[in-house]
Amino acid sequence: MIKNRVGLYLPVLMFMLAALAWSQTSDLWQIHDMNRPRPQIITPGTASTQERPGQAPSDAIVLFNGQDLSQWRAMDGGPAKWVIKNNVIETVKGAGYIRSYREFGSCQLHIEFSTPLPASGSSQGRGNSGVILMGRYEVQVLDSYENITYADGQASAVYAQYPPLVNASRPPGQWQTYDIVFRRPVFDQEGKVQRPAMMTVFHNGILVQDHVELTGPTGWLSQRPYSAHAEKLPISLQDHGNPVRYRNIWVRELVDPADKLIDKPSYRLADDLLQKYAGRYGDSGRGVEIQVRDGHLQANVYGVRTLMFYAESETQFYSREVDITLDFQLDAENNVSGVVVAVASSPSELKKID
Ligand code: MG
Repeated sequence: MIKNRVGLYLPVLMFMLAALAWSQTSDLWQIHDMNRPRPQIITPGTASTQERPGQAPSDAIVLFNGQDLSQWRAMDGGPAKWVIKNNVIETVKGAGYIRSYREFGSCQLHIEFSTPLPASGSSQGRGNSGVILMGRYEVQVLDSYENITYADGQASAVYAQYPPLVNASRPPGQWQTYDIVFRRPVFDQEGKVQRPAMMTVFHNGILVQDHVELTGPTGWLSQRPYSAHAEKLPISLQDHGNPVRYRNIWVRELVDPADKLIDKPSYRLADDLLQKYAGRYGDSGRGVEIQVRDGHLQANVYGVRTLMFYAESETQFYSREVDITLDFQLDAENNVSGVVVAVASSPSELKKID
């Protein structure tokens, strides 16, 4: 019966496959096809002047607009120790790097910086900082105005890999912009690189990195190979001991064809907060065991599956692979008392055992 049907419909099937192949080569849509989905409407931002930072586009995630450091943390997840003076962020010597609270993969990043005036120091010691995508891939920030240093370490270099195409630096004290298009690296199941990270950078509106392919994480005197990491990680800013200032920082997330289902933002919480959630919940017959792993939670759910869970708030976590959420319960003393595990939105409350 089935055989007969296949026989009967074979010409139709062949036609459909041919039609599909044709439509795919024409990118699924006919030329000027009115059924083709139209792009989302956004309101573009405004350009900055030396006196005043511009406005972010309407679909951007604003990481700093002159108000506060709420979108930033110290690297250990504690409060960021850099300061805000006259509505701009200033690097504090010895306070360490800062990183975004939220995590990002492929993205468009706009950031403005100003190196100290009067300039002091020379080469890598003058106005050094850095914008580090995923905490691994640095676009160098440096005062490269009449300051000689190695080419792959001057302003807007992909540090230790690619010098900029031109030196578009403004004098120290003036505001400068970086507009970065970053494509995250993609790794396969075994952790091998399927697609390296790519960067395009505009420095003060000038193209300085033209879709360059990163060889791995950036670092001083080092050419480290890639090692597999998460699809999203915080953006960090470097403390290199020089009081570089930052303003007007925003990000637009770019959908990456390689992204798994990620429909929510994830936040990277402080390690000691995460540690509070580690332990066993429920009973031995139907329990959840949680540990901290790579800045997130890893949970064995009912002895069936071990999954990573990402923070969507201080107490709520979600899996990117299966529709499961964890909502931790706190008692009056702010200790973790239990967790509500919701599988496909049906919740079960489990008490913390140890
Ligand atoms: Mg640097």
